[in-house]
Amino acid sequence: MADYVGAVDQGTTSTRFMIFDHGGNEVARHQLEHQQIMPKPGWVEHNPVEIWERTSAVLQTVMNSQGLCAADLAALGITNQRETTVVWNKRTGRPFYNAIVWQDTRTDKIAAALDKDERGQLIRKRAGLPPATYFSGGKIQWILENVPGVREAAERGDALFGTTDSWLLWNLTGGVDGGVHVTDVTNASRTMLMDLETLEWDDELLAIFGVPRQMLPEIRPSSDPGFYGKTLAHGPLGGEVPLSAALGDQQAAMVGQVCLSAGEAKNTYGTGNFLLLNTGEELVRSDNGLLTTVCYQFGDAKPVYALEGSIAVTGSAVQWLRDQLGIIQGASHSESLARQVPDNGGCYFVPAFSGLFAPYWRSDARGAIVGLSRYNTNAHIARATLEAICYQSRDVADAMEKDSGVKLEVLKVDGGVTANDLCMQIQADVLGVSVSRPVVAETTALGAAYAAGLAVGFWETPEELRQNWNESKRWEPSWTEEQREEGYRGWRKAVERTLGWVEV
Ligand code: ADP
Repeated sequence: MADYVGAVDQGTTSTRFMIFDHGGNEVARHQLEHQQIMPKPGWVEHNPVEIWERTSAVLQTVMNSQGLCAADLAALGITNQRETTVVWNKRTGRPFYNAIVWQDTRTDKIAAALDKDERGQLIRKRAGLPPATYFSGGKIQWILENVPGVREAAERGDALFGTTDSWLLWNLTGGVDGGVHVTDVTNASRTMLMDLETLEWDDELLAIFGVPRQMLPEIRPSSDPGFYGKTLAHGPLGGEVPLSAALGDQQAAMVGQVCLSAGEAKNTYGTGNFLLLNTGEELVRSDNGLLTTVCYQFGDAKPVYALEGSIAVTGSAVQWLRDQLGIIQGASHSESLARQVPDNGGCYFVPAFSGLFAPYWRSDARGAIVGLSRYNTNAHIARATLEAICYQSRDVADAMEKDSGVKLEVLKVDGGVTANDLCMQIQADVLGVSVSRPVVAETTALGAAYAAGLAVGFWETPEELRQNWNESKRWEPSWTEEQREEGYRGWRKAVERTLGWVEV
């Protein structure tokens, strides 16, 4: 029996490969960044070929550096940036266009038009999503309408659509020589094309976006004992390994954080933030700007649903301080700079670069730094950036409490920003609840490994996974109720200033 399970985490900024043992401990990892292509304001693209090459490279590097062979891996799982849309030619294996990334706002007019008539309601009801630039449907429509030859190729059955899980699974299983064209229920639930109840592509939704059904991958469980396929003997792992799981990154983090019972929640702090609450087999529809999404489906068991609050810009606002403003040298410098001041000095930063996602869903919002006086320094801007991460999470947590009636007692956290101690302390202060981070911070990759391992019997039951979860650090709230409410009032005022800034 193989000792390990592998997971590919195809993220927004990088692709990593990680190997875990039976205790859920990390054995090895390697990651490579890929280029962020921004041809126009609001447009964000990735090169799918670069992503596939990076994936192959990280797989090979880890296997070689650890002296492992394919037989050491019981299974391989994939987790991925969600919604990012690839359309490729199944005969040549070449993408027709760059991947249109989830943050890309070029489809704002498509999204806004849907909300002006009954189509918006249909999408909300059937797909559980508000019409927004975020999801794949409009991105596929844009490629079909704007890239010459794609519509015809799609009608002929030569153009395939996939989120990056499908793109990698197709390439890993042989590409033009018989690669499988599949996705899992969690990724499919982000397209605006799947019926959340039947877990099938829906003809009325396909018609809204003009998407030919033959472009779409087969929808499979997130953890599949019949596995999707095997890696190729001559592929980057150097042998055949069952590909038995795929999950969108946030759903994978739910599994990695073992939020496997109704009422359990986690918040992931990466490029954006994603707070998810497991609602069990019940499909809870939001009245407060949250999404309803599939959390996971293990084998032939019933699907488990989640409520989700997605925030577009959190960690990427820290990158913006580094790359565009140049006021910090690296992400961790945001902490030392912000620590130079005791508070935000009246300054709030709303990083609505891609409009505002949950709970506002306003594509007409754009970013603002408000409340400035001559007194303010770079340190206040850094502090306001960290606070923005936390206030946006508070907006979402409040909405979740209203929708579900579940009051958060502890917030489980993970992701790159949780390395920032000050930010996590501010989060506990702003929410008034404890914040808890597990030992294995790479919950996304871990969740994909868990789902892959469950499918092949490497782990027998979800209970076994629970035993692997250990806390590494906890932050307790220190603000008074008054401080908390005053701070939040300032935030809400700042958000008001950003709404309606551009016409869509
Ligand atoms: P993703 O999976 O979305 O690529 P990660 O979980 O790898 O994201 O986190 C990367 C993000 O975390 C980046 O946006 C980066 O700016 C931010 N980040 C990393 N370290 C810190 C830190 N110490 N303080 C604040 N932000 C950080």
